[in-house]
Amino acid sequence: MPAPLIVALAGGVGGAKLAEGLQAHLGARLTVVVNTADDCDRHGLRVMPDHDTVLYTLAGIEQAALGWGIEGDTHAVMNQLGVYGEPTWFSLGDRDLALHIARAAALRRGDRPTEACLAAQRALGLAARILPMTDSPVATAVETDDGWLEFQEYFVHRRQEPEVRGLRFDGLEAARPTPEVAAALEEATAIVIGPSNPLVSIGPILAVPRMRDRLAAARGRGVPVAAVSPIIGGRALKGPADRMLASLGHESSALGVARLYADLVDLFVLDDADAELAPEIEALGLRTLVTDTVMGDDASRARLAGAVLEALEPT
Ligand code: GDP
Ligand code: CA
Repeated sequence: MPAPLIVALAGGVGGAKLAEGLQAHLGARLTVVVNTADDCDRHGLRVMPDHDTVLYTLAGIEQAALGWGIEGDTHAVMNQLGVYGEPTWFSLGDRDLALHIARAAALRRGDRPTEACLAAQRALGLAARILPMTDSPVATAVETDDGWLEFQEYFVHRRQEPEVRGLRFDGLEAARPTPEVAAALEEATAIVIGPSNPLVSIGPILAVPRMRDRLAAARGRGVPVAAVSPIIGGRALKGPADRMLASLGHESSALGVARLYADLVDLFVLDDADAELAPEIEALGLRTLVTDTVMGDDASRARLAGAVLEALEPT
């Protein structure tokens, strides 16, 4: 049997944890496709929150408590930016800013975002590869009772407090999967949708034109697709996924997530705490794997990743 080549789809924190577990098993045989709809410009620099969360997590230097930035980073530059009147609520640490400056320089030289990101990954010695879902600009906007907000305004500045009434992904119709993403999906022996927010992290990836067709084509070749639930016991471990599912008319449960993925996925992975939902998920036509999906430390990340890979192996 040929060595597995796995493509994982990820947003930030949840997807990054599973990606780290997958990397422990697969090394360079893992490609992570990340959401870029949260990307924005700050202080004249391109910010790619989901890419960088996965980058720092796979490099083992992520700030564990917050889920973004580099552990132990300092904030001298940010403090001084405040002196010049730059808004400081989207805080970027000093070492984190170095990545943003290097990436801005690469983009200015004419590199595509994918190339600039791959260069940063090589510099940090990553075993796996992280690919932006597209090189075209895409921007999530969130509809609230105060009108449409830019994603980071909602997520960081307003701390996800406003109720989400609608979502829009500006630029998505014109976006295309990159040649790197297309090739990775072409070569994949299995695809894993990480436990990221299904609406604002995985949603934009799947909504890139032709992305769903490419996943369907892979499945047509017998390539299995798995998804891991980010919702455990009806709740998100972090962030607004549970409230967002509910306010947008979905069920905030592993079953609600499974319904969103039912036409794309063969295997649905849910937590032991939700074992009672397995029959209803199977009734959607999915296989289920019920296991501990809380990834507190490296060992639990590798264990869950190993269980998912094993369940995806041809029988
Ligand atoms: P963001 O872009 O940083 O908000 O992150 P993602 O979209 O990748 O992930 C957010 C989701 O990750 C939330 O819905 C969490 O419930 C989920 N999550 C975080 N940690 C874990 C974990 O250890 N296990 C599971 N199953 N989900 C997790
Ligand atoms: Ca994100």
